Amino acid sequence: MALISVVVPCYNEEAALPLFLDALRTTAAELRAGFDCETELVFVDDGSRDGTLSVLRGAARADSMVHYLSFSRNFGKEAAMFAGLQHARGDYVVIMDADLQHPPSMLREMVSVLRTGEYDCAAARRVSRTGEPPLRSFFSRRFYRLINRISDTEIVEGACDFRMMSRRMVDAILSLREYNRFSKGIFSWVGFRTKWLPFENQERVAGETKWSFWGLFVYAVQGIVGFSTVPLVLVALLGVLLCLGALLIVVYIIVKTLLFGDPVGGWPSMACMVMFMGGVQLFCMGILGEYLAKTYLEVKRRPIYVLSETDEDKKIGEF
Ligand code: UDP
Ligand code: MG
Repeated sequence: MALISVVVPCYNEEAALPLFLDALRTTAAELRAGFDCETELVFVDDGSRDGTLSVLRGAARADSMVHYLSFSRNFGKEAAMFAGLQHARGDYVVIMDADLQHPPSMLREMVSVLRTGEYDCAAARRVSRTGEPPLRSFFSRRFYRLINRISDTEIVEGACDFRMMSRRMVDAILSLREYNRFSKGIFSWVGFRTKWLPFENQERVAGETKWSFWGLFVYAVQGIVGFSTVPLVLVALLGVLLCLGALLIVVYIIVKTLLFGDPVGGWPSMACMVMFMGGVQLFCMGILGEYLAKTYLEVKRRPIYVLSETDEDKKIGEF
């Protein structure tokens, strides 16, 4: 009998969890009946401040299918997914949000795709962005266009973390131990054949989204820095272009001085040039700094998360 692990990162999902648990119990029964698969649920409490942990404790006590890990503080969804994948024991592992935005009914479809043996991953892909603020959709599209142009790793637009993977794909993902994790890139980087399953965006059942516009922006920058070094090349290119421009201006000034003499003047233009160059240099240093900062965080080799409690209560400590 195959085992399916459902990894669920949860941050302040007290309100949504009971509904999620109900839905997943139904789905687990369907999977057992239709596909001869057992299901385990691996919840990762990402340092929630509400009653998420006590809901999980109760669920684990009542139901042997439920397991949970709890972080010592909020480490972010990426860390929570990593921890969940590490602790999942299934032959197939699926990552799902706790807010039921990822329809559990799709699990059956995903299992059938993986069962064929042709694919190692069945991933959901949002086909519409209804219900999303137009400005956010606009910047999302720009982001995908940009990152796909400058990165060798393909980042599919609308792809979300809702995907079922084979054991060997999960092991490949776990072998990437980087601290700055950008899953959309990592899933694609490890390769393997992925089947895309379209789905409509669902409304959250309860609670609210944790993503602010600024949060998404920082996440986008992390994705670019993590999967492309093209910005560094662009900065170097910008330097070369500015040097060439400066050379042209030098020639122009020499010729002008020879022809018309050198009446004093040109201070305003000089001031503009100094400001412009100062700005360009700071901008380039900022880009360099972004890579340097990420390198700094990587070389510290800090653990990706710290556990404070699990349902087995054996593996407390750091990973
Ligand atoms: N999440 C998490 N840690 C965080 C933020 C979010 O584990 O720091 C979880 C959250 O509980 C949910 C999933 O990640 O299960 C997706 O979050 P959310 O619904 O806020 O994102 P959205 O669906 O709006 O993109
Ligand atoms: Mg959500």
